[in-house]
Amino acid sequence: MKMKTSRKPLTIVILVFIVELIVVATLGVMIQRRLNLIDEKIETRQISDWHQVQEECRELEKTINKALIIGMIIFAIVTIILAVYLSQMIIYPLKKMIESKEKKERAEETELKTKLLHMTEGIIAFNIDGKIDLINPAAKLLLKISPEDYTFEEIFNKFNLDLNLEKLIYLEDLTSMEQRIEVEDKTVKVLFSPFRNEENNKPEGIIAVIQDITENVQLDTMRKEFVADVSHELKTPITSIMGYTDTLLEGDYDPETQKEFLQVVSGEAKRMAKLVTDLLDLSRLDNNSRYIKKEKFDLGELAKECQKNLAIEIKKKKHHVECLVTADVPPVYADKDDIKRVILNILTNSIKYTPEGGSIKIYVGFVYSDAYIKIIDNGIGIPEEDLNRIFERFYRVDKSRAREMGGTGLGLSIAKEILDKNGGSIDIKSKVNKGTEVVIKIPTK
Ligand code: ADP
Repeated sequence: MKMKTSRKPLTIVILVFIVELIVVATLGVMIQRRLNLIDEKIETRQISDWHQVQEECRELEKTINKALIIGMIIFAIVTIILAVYLSQMIIYPLKKMIESKEKKERAEETELKTKLLHMTEGIIAFNIDGKIDLINPAAKLLLKISPEDYTFEEIFNKFNLDLNLEKLIYLEDLTSMEQRIEVEDKTVKVLFSPFRNEENNKPEGIIAVIQDITENVQLDTMRKEFVADVSHELKTPITSIMGYTDTLLEGDYDPETQKEFLQVVSGEAKRMAKLVTDLLDLSRLDNNSRYIKKEKFDLGELAKECQKNLAIEIKKKKHHVECLVTADVPPVYADKDDIKRVILNILTNSIKYTPEGGSIKIYVGFVYSDAYIKIIDNGIGIPEEDLNRIFERFYRVDKSRAREMGGTGLGLSIAKEILDKNGGSIDIKSKVNKGTEVVIKIPTK
């Protein structure tokens, strides 16, 4: 609040001074006139004896006393008015200003406390002796700080860090220092920065900012694993292609063997091509750059179309495939090409992982606002311990066998991402040597 800097108080003081001057001057004039009167009376012999002079003097004394009392009363009244006025003009706004400043400071303090309280990053301020000056709940949670931990050493010693508070505080050129700490199943990053007194620039303590970087570390590990997996997946067919082509170039083989070798080369090249297509699909799905073109279409029709598309593979393995569509399934609303890719992948898996002459059933129906497609085979099945990892990229139950069958281990993860993007879902149930049941749900609205 801005104090009113008016000139009123000064004017009032001057006025009071003038009033008081007038009062004093009036008194002086009154007394002077009275003395002149007595003087006159003595000169004109109106007063002739000493007794009368005494009488006049007593009268004068009474007048002076009265004037003094009146003067004092006026003076007191004026002083009180002045005091009240000054308190209104100066002290009250001053008090108000101090109050509002305190209020503002309190509000700022509360705001800071609230922010610290709700911050996801942990904050700890240590004083020069290493004692905690300030700590927020996130810091306690992230570093699992117990109520007995009060000092820098008590908190950080248990993480076996080579940290020295004094070094951190007094190192001239240190602006901040970062440390990674494993706290149970989490990874946290702690940033230590010394802070100084603003006036004398003397070191006052250390601020530790704690951040949960578990997700970043996991993502980084996943990225590294992904690169390693892709390199490995590409290296295997390349090695095979190089091996067979070199053998063909070096030796003089009969046409039959040459054809056999070339078939292997062709198979490996196809696998590489599939891997690259799958990777491109994943990359497009990851970057959200894949344009989703939702439309209404008949899921039963699409299931039958997929069955037709895979007729050669089905025939090769002599499978018996049945497609049953419940009447009145409402049209689904999704990207038709995407959903076709998912159905083809699930159906291909059933064909691949079911021994010759197997049975594959496709059911199309609906529950509530979703239509579903259920593909059931009586193939080799998936062990229970692998079921929850089946949607991970490159995850295959039996790596060598799946690779032999041309699998990349990316199909189900692509299917899951496509369904997530189209508002659908995928669920797999399986029993080893009994078969697998995959249910895909797709919204109808
Ligand atoms: P792939 O290209 O290797 O088939 P997917 O992601 O489609 O990759 O499948 C992952 C793994 O899940 C496969 O390698 C296979 O081990 C297993 N799997 C998928 N579907 C079936 C099925 N119907 N029967 C048995 N195993 C299956």
